[in-house]
Amino acid sequence: ETEVLRKPSWIRVKAPTSKGYAETRKIVHGKGLVTVCEEAACPNIGECWEKKHATFMILGDTCTRACAFCNVKTGLPGPVDPAEAEKIGISVKEMELKHVVITSVDRDDLTDGGAQHFVDVINAIRAHSPGTTVEILTPDFLRKDGALDTVIDARPDVFNHNLETVPRLYLKIRPGARYYHSMRLLERVKERDPSQFTKSGLMVGLGETKEEVMQVMDDMRSAGIDFLTIGQYLQPTRKHAAVDRFVTPEEFKAYETIARAKGFLLVSSSPLTRSSYHADSDFAKLAAA
Ligand code: SF4
Ligand code: SF4
Repeated sequence: ETEVLRKPSWIRVKAPTSKGYAETRKIVHGKGLVTVCEEAACPNIGECWEKKHATFMILGDTCTRACAFCNVKTGLPGPVDPAEAEKIGISVKEMELKHVVITSVDRDDLTDGGAQHFVDVINAIRAHSPGTTVEILTPDFLRKDGALDTVIDARPDVFNHNLETVPRLYLKIRPGARYYHSMRLLERVKERDPSQFTKSGLMVGLGETKEEVMQVMDDMRSAGIDFLTIGQYLQPTRKHAAVDRFVTPEEFKAYETIARAKGFLLVSSSPLTRSSYHADSDFAKLAAA
């Protein structure tokens, strides 16, 4: 058994107790929606749900991949729920969301990797809430010809796909994925529709070096990626990849400064930053600027 590092003082999570949190929970559970906030046991759930910021997970709760950092269960997923798009469209309207984040498990079992379902969900949100901005966080559509273009053509406002870690650690952390394929995916979004913002994220504390992180930032900027998130990796259970170390808040600040200098438009870099952390308020700030 590997030694589990003690969490430092800056990884503090408040128990969710607010009224807003309870309201969000009621809608999410009442509609039978799946959120990554709950599935990934996200440490920010109290803060995000209080402000009605949630990330919906579509295409079920079972993934065909088994990334070493991820708490979502692996297996053969059930059939796609054809009512899901409408259900999310209605929920987004009821929650009066100005900005919504939609993500999914990986569906290597579907011919199009779930691309058309993403399109249906985007269209349903647009139909019910034309003023709401839509951010999608997609799987990599590896070996799914044409799937990516289908999703791009639904014109989400923000196209997010996480690189997760530095290329050297892919085999260990993200064995089903390919670094250059994921980078190329984001570059392709910009080529096909330059009006969409592209976004990506990294987890740190997995054994990467600062130089490797800076190299990834350069690769991202070469691919035209606009927004960057960097957060501390936390081990969901003892079966998952171990934390190599806890990156200090000062180091996160330094990453943020470097990233801004490299030209990213939005950067969130802090221990508890997650891919969708503050995605609503940050995007609103950018739109207002
Ligand atoms: Fe949900 Fe993202 Fe907030 Fe975590 S950071 S609670 S996943 S919206
Ligand atoms: Fe988790 Fe996504 Fe990897 Fe599936 S593909 S195991 S949902 S990180």
